[in-house]
Amino acid sequence: MKIAMIGTGYVGLVTGTCFADSGNDVVCVDIDEEKIAALKAGEIPIYEPGLSELVVRNSESGRLTFTTDLADGVSRSQIIYLAVGTPPAADGSADLTALRAVVDQMAPHLTDDAVVVTKSTVPVGTNQFIFERLQELLGREVDVASNPEFLKEGAAIDDFMKPDRVVVGVRRAEVAEILNELYRPFLRTDRPFLAMSPQSAELTKYVANALLSTKISFINEMANLCEQMGGDINDVRRGIGHDQRIGFAFLFPGVGYGGSCFPKDVRALASMARDLGLDPRIMDAVDSVNQHQKTVLVDKIKNYFEGDVTGKRIAVWGLAFKPRTDDIREAPALTLLDYLLENGAQPQVHDPEASENIRARYGNKLVYCESAMDALNGADALAINTEWKAYHNPDFDDMKNRMNGRVIFDGRNLYEPEQMLKKGFSYYSIGRPPAL
Ligand code: NAD
Repeated sequence: MKIAMIGTGYVGLVTGTCFADSGNDVVCVDIDEEKIAALKAGEIPIYEPGLSELVVRNSESGRLTFTTDLADGVSRSQIIYLAVGTPPAADGSADLTALRAVVDQMAPHLTDDAVVVTKSTVPVGTNQFIFERLQELLGREVDVASNPEFLKEGAAIDDFMKPDRVVVGVRRAEVAEILNELYRPFLRTDRPFLAMSPQSAELTKYVANALLSTKISFINEMANLCEQMGGDINDVRRGIGHDQRIGFAFLFPGVGYGGSCFPKDVRALASMARDLGLDPRIMDAVDSVNQHQKTVLVDKIKNYFEGDVTGKRIAVWGLAFKPRTDDIREAPALTLLDYLLENGAQPQVHDPEASENIRARYGNKLVYCESAMDALNGADALAINTEWKAYHNPDFDDMKNRMNGRVIFDGRNLYEPEQMLKKGFSYYSIGRPPAL
């Protein structure tokens, strides 16, 4: 099939590349000229495991091309995927400016049998809006489907190649059949292909992210209770997880969720509810618990240094909002870094992939370290934000030799409190008694 992918960001690039890898002709379109020039030169603008090899392989085979020419990309494709960003507006609603612009610009170039598919996460009713807008512009009906994306950054290729399910929202069964054909190579292991109305498909994406965010905020609130009541959230987690109605997935306490999806999608769903005169009580609570959770490491550090971190050298391990990505959008590390800088501390930071993105935001206000161990040199404390594998089994003796202080604030519960005590550290984690 001939596919145009409009918007070559995390989702567009991964989706376009995977479709090319299964034998389709894919042209990725973006307005960002630098990004397209880099991709044409074989440089991948984001860090995503396995992506680079796939892009290079499919570009070399000629099945994957890149352009800034929307008209050209659209006019030679049958399936037009929309994967532009839908960032949050000031009131929390999804900003559809880019998507609307693309719809208007591409309309005159659509072929007679074109199928337009939204991959971006868009508010319920957007599919209908596009359908009506194209009808208004072209004087005819164009097939518009919704195909929300559930991939996780850091495991995007695997998630796309072996999806738990594929959801499509369509008006006509024939359109579902075209998309089913496109996805068939990825659904060989009996993964379900679920066709439904566009509204249900659009909602499915928000409901999935809302529930996942709710689980995170729920376990974080329980972790905070554990700390106050003298319990250990790890034991409680085990105690509840074996109940098959509950399970273990997505119930890890931490310093809150971040990234480009959960925060914005929870707020967008709440905003949609409010527009309908409804009161999204759970979504508002999930968001507010998460905002609070991003400050728990700050509070622990503040308490430990009795409110004065001036001149303290604080090593910070992990800046990305989660491991295996360089994405720092709404990352909990930002809350910590802002606090440290505003209060005269000197952060010495390390992240295997996200340092450049952090540098673009903070410039030379931070000390950037090549290795996690280097970040500890002379540090009064270590704070951990992201559970990169490399941080799981460090050389604690080496750490002690390098550090000035002997205290670790662990926002991801990487170590066992008792062992940390034995190794000579004061250790504060999430939802567990401190080891002092
Ligand atoms: P992104 O910011 O990485 O990429 C968006 C791309 O669209 C950018 O490259 C931008 O230059 C391009 N763009 C903007 N306006 C354009 C225009 N007029 N014409 C062509 N290109 C244009 O965003 P993303 O993370 O890939 O997210 C895209 C959508 O997918 C969002 O709606 C997001 O909610 C959704 N989504 C993201 C993820 C994720 O993990 N990142 C997962 C599922 C769904």
